[in-house]
Amino acid sequence: MALYVQKYGGTSVGTIERIEAVADKVKSFHDAGHQMVVAVSAMSGETNRLIGLAKGISETPDPREMDVLVSTGEQVTIALLSMALKKRGINARSYTGWQVGIKTDSSYMKARIEDIDTSSMRAQLDAGGVVIVAGFQGIDDDNNITTLGRGGSDTTGVALAAALKADECQIYTDVDGVYTTDPRVVPAARRMEKVTFEEMLEMASLGSKVLQIRSVEFAGKYKVPLRVLSSFKEGNGTLITMEENSSVENPVISGIAFNRDEAKLTVKGVPDIPGVASRILVPVSEANIEVDMIVQNVSEDGTTDFTFTVNRSEYQKALGLLKTIGEEINAREVTGTDDICKVSMVGVGMRSHAGVASKMFKVLADENINIQAITTSEIKISVVIAEKYLELAVRALHTAFGLDAEATEE
Ligand code: ASP
Ligand code: MG
Repeated sequence: MALYVQKYGGTSVGTIERIEAVADKVKSFHDAGHQMVVAVSAMSGETNRLIGLAKGISETPDPREMDVLVSTGEQVTIALLSMALKKRGINARSYTGWQVGIKTDSSYMKARIEDIDTSSMRAQLDAGGVVIVAGFQGIDDDNNITTLGRGGSDTTGVALAAALKADECQIYTDVDGVYTTDPRVVPAARRMEKVTFEEMLEMASLGSKVLQIRSVEFAGKYKVPLRVLSSFKEGNGTLITMEENSSVENPVISGIAFNRDEAKLTVKGVPDIPGVASRILVPVSEANIEVDMIVQNVSEDGTTDFTFTVNRSEYQKALGLLKTIGEEINAREVTGTDDICKVSMVGVGMRSHAGVASKMFKVLADENINIQAITTSEIKISVVIAEKYLELAVRALHTAFGLDAEATEE
């Protein structure tokens, strides 16, 4: 007998029929003798609808009231799922975040879980019942309702699993696992049986949208075995594990992530003297603009070009700011573009294999794709290229690094 925490996302509970299907699934685990704790999202589209209502009143709604509002979506789902389970003869009970003692800090709309009181859940489990918890929400020390940021129900699931020391946290979603890259871009993308936390974390922060980043951090920190599966299709999904498989067959590259949310800015012809980088970047960070990649090179005339990337939504703001800074530091020119994207290869296998970067650059060169910026870490290489080459680059790399699924015969 195991203790499972399952989390069902918005599409998995998007209609009454789907909620009934989730109830069947939970019942089958319960009937098999497992203890079941289930965290759910709001029905798909509901959180956006609620945000839309608030925006009808104010462009910048009060954050405390915003959390009171958006947390209602999950409360609807827990009640409906509990009813569906009760109809099936199961002693199910729904709990909001505060009822189950999910304590968070007070940062509305992006609160962090600090503590979970497991006593009421334990009592319900010991009585042979199923626990249904509203995802995405908690309560702070002053009893204010808080929410955990978009996609936060994943984190609720993982946090419950950590607090209860569950055997596994299973995230049920609309895809049947984590893929080597987005199958909409590369039809030959493969589902991974396993991926390490470290890789998953990189992929989540580089643009893979399967899991909320914070939930992966949480699972890694508390060593919660985490599995991503489909609510609609049978299968083992993808297990996210601590263990690094060092077998020879293990691929050097596990996956390719990409994102189009980047923009690039360049300050040209800056005097190459100490302090220039900070004179450019300090005002940028003071304006709360997050900088991603940074490239600087010095030319022979003693000036330097300084390039960095920011989130595309901050591009205009950053460009305006940079024009002012450019004048102050006597830069020759300030330019920018948001026609770029970032393509990243991730894999713990890189640690033990040289030449991954050079192979990547060769593959891109063979496709005539110009690289505009590069960053690397121990398990990741990212490049900035023109956005129009995104699909071509990802497909070429996917094939070159042996990630394509073998064509199956019909
Ligand atoms: N309902 C929330 C959202 O749409 C939380 C979640 O689904 O994970 O972001
Ligand atoms: Mg989600």
